[in-house]
Amino acid sequence: MAMEAGKLPTAGKPIRCRAAVSRKPGEPLVIEEVMVDPPMPHEVRIRIICTSLCHSDITFWKMKDPPGCFPRIFGHEAVGIVESIGENVDEVTEGDVVVPTFMSDCGECADCKSKKSNLCSKLPFKVSPWMPRYETSRFKDLNGEVLYHFLFVSSFIEYTVVDVAHLTKIDPAIPPNRACLIGCGVSTGVGAAWRTANVEAGSTVAIFGLGSIGLAVAEGARLCGAARIIGVDTNPDKFEIVSSCHSSCRGNRLQVQMIDKEAKLGLRSWQVHVQSL
Ligand SMILES: [Zn+2]
Ligand SMILES: [Zn+2]
Repeated sequence: MAMEAGKLPTAGKPIRCRAAVSRKPGEPLVIEEVMVDPPMPHEVRIRIICTSLCHSDITFWKMKDPPGCFPRIFGHEAVGIVESIGENVDEVTEGDVVVPTFMSDCGECADCKSKKSNLCSKLPFKVSPWMPRYETSRFKDLNGEVLYHFLFVSSFIEYTVVDVAHLTKIDPAIPPNRACLIGCGVSTGVGAAWRTANVEAGSTVAIFGLGSIGLAVAEGARLCGAARIIGVDTNPDKFEIVSSCHSSCRGNRLQVQMIDKEAKLGLRSWQVHVQSL
């Protein structure tokens, strides 16, 4: 029988592949073979081509009590290629390059349609061990034991299943080792400046905390045309990081102000637009 155009021979069948499984809180991940079920309706199975580590992975990896749960497959910053799609998926097709995101965008609810909110009310964010629509897992180990999902992504695995509301199709020309950062810190930080604070061209922006999100806020403020960007941090090591993070400093617009944890800030003279903690 001829295969449907674009479909891979793995479509509709479980895939056996490797994953870095977190078996116990705080203990090293174990590389093992696991089974990944085919996608249910509104779901997409993707082959992960690049993933990165975010601090939220570490926070939940250490967690002994709920919402920590084990065995679990962590990872939520990734980029992948669509291997197969479930029913009712029109947004992406086999071979598309996609970035999974832990925040959903169903595209249908009043909040997704509104320009003033990006918090989907149909599939609201929660730290769930399951897929968002069915409260079941697509992962099992070779003994048949269920492996839990993380933030609706679980990218420390060769193939994962993600709800289509948690996927964004991207230009395949974007280098994968950059694209895999877009699912968490970059979108949070750039969006804070661009969408939440609505930074105006020519304005002065202060950013509190120069971690990965703070640096992404700086980049968002730069893209919005901020004339002056002041980064505030208590950690002197951030000087080095900021100066090596060239894109945020283009035009020398980002200045760094170090403060003591106890110090009182003389913020009245600044126009404060962005607060990132
Ligand atoms: Zn929605
Ligand atoms: Zn993250």
